[in-house]
Amino acid sequence: MAELKRLSESRDLTRIERIGAHSHIRGLGLDASLEARDASEGMVGQLPARRAAGLILQLIRQGKIAGRAVLLAGQPGTGKTALAMGIAKSLGAETPFASIAASELFSLDLSKTEALTQAFRRAIGVRIKEEAEIIEGEVVEISVDRPVAAAAGVPSGAAPAGKTGRLTLKTTDMETVYELGGKMIEALGKEKVQSGDVVALDKASGKVTKLGRSIGRSRDYDAVGAHTKFVKCPEGELQKRKEVVHCVTLHEIDVINSRTQGFLALFTGDTGEIRAEVREQIDTKVAEWREEGKAEIVPGVLFIDEVHMLDIECFSFLNRALENDMAPILVIATNRGITTIRGTNYRSPHGIPSDFLDRLLIITTQPYTEEEIRKILDIRCEEEDVEMSADAKVLLTKIGTETSLRYAIHLITSAALACQKRKGKVVEMEDISRVYSLFLDLKRSTQYLMEYQSQYMF
Ligand code: ATP
Repeated sequence: MAELKRLSESRDLTRIERIGAHSHIRGLGLDASLEARDASEGMVGQLPARRAAGLILQLIRQGKIAGRAVLLAGQPGTGKTALAMGIAKSLGAETPFASIAASELFSLDLSKTEALTQAFRRAIGVRIKEEAEIIEGEVVEISVDRPVAAAAGVPSGAAPAGKTGRLTLKTTDMETVYELGGKMIEALGKEKVQSGDVVALDKASGKVTKLGRSIGRSRDYDAVGAHTKFVKCPEGELQKRKEVVHCVTLHEIDVINSRTQGFLALFTGDTGEIRAEVREQIDTKVAEWREEGKAEIVPGVLFIDEVHMLDIECFSFLNRALENDMAPILVIATNRGITTIRGTNYRSPHGIPSDFLDRLLIITTQPYTEEEIRKILDIRCEEEDVEMSADAKVLLTKIGTETSLRYAIHLITSAALACQKRKGKVVEMEDISRVYSLFLDLKRSTQYLMEYQSQYMF
């Protein structure tokens, strides 16, 4: 339990926001009635697809869609990944969202099914509830070993010898003495607790929170900027039970239990194969916690991009995995039309076997209009902190419509560098033209290859 708690706390620290391809997407941009706003939360256009994604979102929130799958199908650069990201952002940090490209499954370190199992379990959250006993009372005395107190910065006046110390709290019906552990000493130092303070003591973690100062001998306490206003502490109010919740994924529990250095393996990603027995034990434990009301399962979202790269074995695995009652919602995306199912000689829509296609809710994405491309480029300029003149934006939009949205987005960063090089502040048409001539788009690259084909190796 302690490791899980440490994990859920440290994960918040490691969540670093970077400017990535989709960092401007903050949600699906829907209003309260799930209608898509023209441009909102970084999302532009693609209204029917966003509306459909909004319905899926509602189903996920109501827990009605576990074990189902959604296919996002559309041409390259039409926002399939952006939509998946929008769903993830709208779900909030508590709902796990795992994302992989199908090609990642074909690694040398893990078997396909192991990699898929890990991905599935990264998308299944466990909300673990713990009861903490909180005791509130007035500090009568802190007696702690002097060097220990000094190191922790505890403002204790007289401190007798002894390795540990004692915290004496006066509660309504008793005087309670607590032995001070290291954690409690630290907490006392942080909070600068001294006699006469009113504190809340979490017995399990040793955390001490200062609530205010006691005023005199009566039981009236005056809270100073704390969460509780003590006017009078009635009998029995001083011992409280508080529920503490930690959220982790099944995969994280697997890793912690499968290796001695498990906790760190989560950050390096080097988790290796996890034995089936470990997972079975964990599933049994989690089932027990659920029965005792100590844990809840939070089915999240697993997003698999380039799904046409999966082979027939992977599809069969997915079919089975979706039957599990803890299964997350599966969102898959592809930009392929009718193509061969990997591992077979059969062709099918998107390279997906028909029995699997049959269980999918399919959302299609459409190419963008010139106006939509302009708006997306505008948002990206803002996201990348790039100032661009109106003329340059018109030119970039034209490039976007004639080549691809993704190519135009790439030119923003490189044009900003070109602008910096000439010591300019605002990206102008000349910067755009310069990088347009330096970097080829798909069409020009193909043309170039056709012209100079004979000079390349076969
Ligand atoms: P592919 O099939 O090649 O994987 P895709 O359909 O997944 O492409 P994205 O990667 O989502 O396309 O889109 C390309 C870029 O355009 C990304 O930076 C994405 O965030 C942005 N983008 C796409 N659609 C929208 C939109 N509707 N609103 C805002 N940004 C968008």
